[in-house]
Amino acid sequence: MSEYEAVIGLETHIQLNTITKIFCTCKADSWNDPPNSNICPVCCGLPGVLPVLNWAVVLKAVLLAVAMRAEVLPVSYFDRKNYFYPDLPKGYQISQYDKPLASGGHFDLPVPASGDAPAYVRHVTIHKLHIEEDAGKTKNENGRRLIDFNRCGVPLVEMVTGPDLRSADEAAQYIIRLRQLLRWLGISEADMEKAHLRCDANVSIRPKGAEYLNPKTEIKNVNSIVAVRTSIQTEIERQTKEVEAGRRIEAWTLEWDEDSATLRKMRSKETEADYRYFREPDLLPIRLSEQQRAEIISNLPELPLERRTRFVQQYGLPEYDADILTNERSLSEYFENVVKSYEGDPKRASNWLINDVLRMINDNGIPAEKLRLTPPYLAEIIKLVDTGTVNTSTGKSLLDKVEQTGRTPGEIVQEEGLAKVSDTDAIRAACIMVLAENPEQVTSFKNGKATLIGWFVGQVMRKTRGKADPQATRAALEELLKG
Ligand SMILES: [Zn+2]
Repeated sequence: MSEYEAVIGLETHIQLNTITKIFCTCKADSWNDPPNSNICPVCCGLPGVLPVLNWAVVLKAVLLAVAMRAEVLPVSYFDRKNYFYPDLPKGYQISQYDKPLASGGHFDLPVPASGDAPAYVRHVTIHKLHIEEDAGKTKNENGRRLIDFNRCGVPLVEMVTGPDLRSADEAAQYIIRLRQLLRWLGISEADMEKAHLRCDANVSIRPKGAEYLNPKTEIKNVNSIVAVRTSIQTEIERQTKEVEAGRRIEAWTLEWDEDSATLRKMRSKETEADYRYFREPDLLPIRLSEQQRAEIISNLPELPLERRTRFVQQYGLPEYDADILTNERSLSEYFENVVKSYEGDPKRASNWLINDVLRMINDNGIPAEKLRLTPPYLAEIIKLVDTGTVNTSTGKSLLDKVEQTGRTPGEIVQEEGLAKVSDTDAIRAACIMVLAENPEQVTSFKNGKATLIGWFVGQVMRKTRGKADPQATRAALEELLKG
């Protein structure tokens, strides 16, 4: 096994989150709609209709191209890709062929450490990035073949990497990072379950260190991160066995069956000539002026991996924290706003965010920017704890209270009388009461059951409604119990 290395290239189809389809005004996202409810003569390819390009598709695709450091061509063309299949009513798909929207980009993929292997960066080249329309969907039901044209004309970006990935794990990482980037840019929901992000994988193997490429197989229909990893791993192992048995790898197209986790041969791969590409006569070329391209480039936000590196450098955060905080753009912005208001140690702000606020975001399904616990409120709570005005557990309970009521932490502390009791006399009085009310426990403690001290602290906390300073309470109890 170890003498071979895998050579993997990925073709991804990304559904852009435009309101309407690419060449007509039908609604683009029909995930929850009944079959054939978002269709018109244009997307169904009836005779005599003409497509009209949705410019929002071009802008979103160019943004992705720029994020991939690809070269956006000043003029690109639409072509017809001809094939016959029931889900393609026109008999061709409008795509781009030899003059695509962009080419020649790259993506520096961070691959995390695993076991003894350290983390590293894999340079993944982007061969080609183009826009096209989606086809419909067929399914078998009760022995009948059913067709749903809702997806016809849904805008897609197809992005093809070079054969640069070297393992099933790297391929899975690429999809994870691509999904993160698409959401970050706000150009796709990138939900694999809803087919917003689909992946085909080209896989071959060769002796380790070799430069040449062997015949490859193409795995179709890989629609989850787990499926990317397991289908590619399965195929690498199959090819290795074949080669070791002295057999040749043939250029098959394989289909991944999610339920049985097996690969099935679909057909011998067709060559590009089978599609008889020619220029789409019903659409003008896409022309992007220097100024339009410059404008899109200037609108490109700081990208997730760049922000991750900056968080480590600027705020002194561990990579682990920086990775979590930059997983989503809204969370990373929330963090920076907390740091601005808090003015204390950014790592402390990060702890509160990762340990407590993130749980709130996940439990309630609310994005960071929609929380009523705004960054200045979170900063205020951390400061209340830092200055000793409230203890840590009260501080944590304030998070939910602010989120539920929308009131400021300061108001809640004042109205509910939550400020920490650090007055030693008051704490001492509460301790004396607790000891007097629990003579049995006092006896057990004096007979050597030292762990009861924690129970006494808890009782004092209850009596003071959580406001007593725990350390001062403990000290007072220890002193009283000594006597
Ligand atoms: Zn339509």
